Amino acid sequence: MPTVDARLGLSGVSSDDLAAWFEAHGEPAYRARQVLTALWASQASSPGDLTTLPRGLAAELDDAFRWSTVADETIVASDGGQTEKALHRLADGATIESVLMHYPATAGRRARHTLCISSQAGCAVGCPFCATGELGFTRDLETAEILDQVRSANRRLRTGERITNVVFMGMGEPLLNLDRVLEAVASLNDPARLGLGARHITVSTSGVVPGIRRLTALGPQFTLAISIHAARDALRDVLVPLNRRWPVAEVVAAARDHARATGRRVSYEVTMIGGVNDTEADADALANLLRGDLAHVNLIPMNPVAHTPWRASPMPVIERFAGRIKAAGIPVTIRRNRGVEIGAACGQLAAERAGAPTEPAVARRRERLEAASARALRGQRSEEPIPAGVDA
Ligand code: SAH
Ligand code: SF4
Repeated sequence: MPTVDARLGLSGVSSDDLAAWFEAHGEPAYRARQVLTALWASQASSPGDLTTLPRGLAAELDDAFRWSTVADETIVASDGGQTEKALHRLADGATIESVLMHYPATAGRRARHTLCISSQAGCAVGCPFCATGELGFTRDLETAEILDQVRSANRRLRTGERITNVVFMGMGEPLLNLDRVLEAVASLNDPARLGLGARHITVSTSGVVPGIRRLTALGPQFTLAISIHAARDALRDVLVPLNRRWPVAEVVAAARDHARATGRRVSYEVTMIGGVNDTEADADALANLLRGDLAHVNLIPMNPVAHTPWRASPMPVIERFAGRIKAAGIPVTIRRNRGVEIGAACGQLAAERAGAPTEPAVARRRERLEAASARALRGQRSEEPIPAGVDA
């Protein structure tokens, strides 16, 4: 068994704490800023690489803190290099994923480099169409582990480029690790670190109502995205098991309050699953639920995942669904999948590494899902328990 590195991740240390550390070592406070600049804007891989730091001090810093808490184990590119998926290994052996998406400049719009990051290793919510949900929950990420995914991607960009958008749509449920997510967001905002504005950060949740309410009280920190997937409880119970704890009407009420209080549009995500949540009745139920709200709907064709019987809805079906949402006066976009062939829906790479489930296990799982979604389509609520470990 390797011993786990107990040093704190440097990226997660606040500016004040870092300044205090230097002060305790008889050094001026500006050293903290020097180190932060090097952390976020240089290719240095340890304090020893910093020519501005005296040798002895660099060694002491290295003894106290870990320069990076994520090791890039695999980087897989697709879409002609436009999408890069990274599998990161953490000090205790857990693995997480991030996906970097490059969008070239268009007329009137600068090039964007959007990074999708993880907030937990695994996830306790257990949505059946999601590779991470299938892996189960391992642990919350530390603040530094969240931020170091961003630093890793930033280092892989070309000179002069920087991460322009961060979305918490990787592994895990960010609102079940909210303290650390908020700390990480504050660091991303910090001009001495990444300096990314709140408008360029999106946090996606499967509907942790107390977390949404807490965010509303804090004021706008980032764009809030709600993984809604279905407007009717019976179906949402199956697609987002957290719905058995916080039903869809409560989730939307909390999101509506958030939009009113912050003046910021809430984004609703629907993973489009053929024959499951893509009927006209589903579109109308969603339109009725969101009518008049400060909302935007994003339709995402489902990425195929090995253990489910499901596939993406055909594009004409998605377009018809979009048309009904639009007709209700709600802005809607269809998001083209990026990196499908490398399994860019977060968690898929890690799921592959964990090994394929046996055929009989997959067959049983598919059968249960078919039965559950058929019951849901008849309007029957789920009798399955609320997933363990989802208390906010
Ligand atoms: N746990 C949070 C954030 C991470 S999941 C949440 O659920 O919102 C980020 C997004 O990826 C969610 O909208 C989720 O529904 C979507 N997703 C998961 N598996 C997918 C798949 N197989 N195909 C398409 N989207 C998927
Ligand atoms: Fe967790 Fe989000 Fe995947 Fe659901 S979709 S299992 S909440 S990561």
